[in-house]
Amino acid sequence: MLCHDVERVVYFFLDGTLDKRRQDDFQHHLDLCSECETRTIFHRRIRVFLKRRLAPVSAPARLKQRLTRSLRAFAE
Ligand SMILES: [Zn+2]
Repeated sequence: MLCHDVERVVYFFLDGTLDKRRQDDFQHHLDLCSECETRTIFHRRIRVFLKRRLAPVSAPARLKQRLTRSLRAFAE
């Protein structure tokens, strides 16, 4: 996995929704690339911050499905 791949799938990694092989590839890249490791930590902190600050909102099921399909297509 290269740096630009990491950037594309970082939120899938943080969600734990990558398949096992890609999750391992991502982690392996972080072990070797301090820039991507730093960016991933930054993204993780933003997520934690937003979760604490924002009230939970539930999107309609059809919207979730469309967004999930779009994000997966983008990540591949
Ligand atoms: Zn990198």
